Amino acid sequence: MKSRFSSSLLVILTILFTLYSCGAPYETQTLFAMDTVVTVSAETHSPDDLAAAAETLAAIENTFSRTREDAEIAVVNTRTESTLSSETEQLLAKALEVSKNTGGAFSPTLGRLTSLWNVTGGGYVPTDEELAAALADCRMQDVSITDGTVSKPAGLQFDLGACVKGYAAEKAIEALKDKGIQNAMINIGGNVAVSGKPQKAEYWRVGVKNPFYPDELLGYITANDGVIAVSGTYERFFEKDGVLYHHIFDPATGFPAASGLKEAAVYAKDGFLADALSTALFVMGEKRASAFYESGVYAFEAILVTDDGRVVVTAGLKERFVPNTDAAFDDTRKLIF
Ligand code: AMP
Ligand code: MG
Repeated sequence: MKSRFSSSLLVILTILFTLYSCGAPYETQTLFAMDTVVTVSAETHSPDDLAAAAETLAAIENTFSRTREDAEIAVVNTRTESTLSSETEQLLAKALEVSKNTGGAFSPTLGRLTSLWNVTGGGYVPTDEELAAALADCRMQDVSITDGTVSKPAGLQFDLGACVKGYAAEKAIEALKDKGIQNAMINIGGNVAVSGKPQKAEYWRVGVKNPFYPDELLGYITANDGVIAVSGTYERFFEKDGVLYHHIFDPATGFPAASGLKEAAVYAKDGFLADALSTALFVMGEKRASAFYESGVYAFEAILVTDDGRVVVTAGLKERFVPNTDAAFDDTRKLIF
């Protein structure tokens, strides 16, 4: 019943959008994938075109999910040694490389820790002993990949939640391009990939939320290509005894990162990188993140929002970022751009 309702709703939304856009060949579809709401907008030649994006997302989810029993990563997590598909080998190798280059701030091996905290399932504040035991199973250095085979301790679990959405967004755009669709935008729960332009403007405008009031925008980024990924405390959290615990962990402590940042947004051509780095910068905090940006290890631009309401925009993004100068910090103050 439920799925029939949602697919009829989808059709209605699609028709409405097509009518609204006065017959011009842009369509928007909303679907649910990767545990989040996905929106695809693209200039299409046939109504079936957008299916290529949805199929790509389904395939990626079926490979990299750790909760779908038959997904490759879920199976890898149950073993100490596995032969990898070439896509998974490449993705894991890149994840380990980014982990190294970010000093472990991005860590794709936190599965035991994230399961323990169980933020999405209601939340649990672990004891020191539980934390220490989980962290012992999260050591990236214990993983090796050689000739398509990954080896890891039995307890170590990959959690690719911090990089797969950005990766998937880029791949879905590629799938649309393969269909001849150059103008497209896909939003996977705040990880947005764009290509070309929208119907009535020269650039896509990608909104970034104000982390203090997530119903409001911090501003928007204009782009014709690339991926914008955002990590913020407001995305997933739970409250216990008056304390808010969010879903981005500092691998050094095992606790939700308390780096002085409320949000980190990253713009990069590479979707995997945009996503992984948004998480990493969030964990690093302003000072480390700025030094990392200056080091030039990776090509990216970023926006950092600090706990005290300052918005830091990297040099290469200043021309593309249009701030909402009305964005509030609290009842009486505005954010400082
Ligand atoms: P994101 O929203 O992209 O910042 O990703 C956050 C998700 O990645 C969390 O829900 C966890 O599943 C996982 N995660 C949390 N902390 C980290 C971290 N420091 N490095 C890598 N993945 C993490
Ligand atoms: Mg991320």
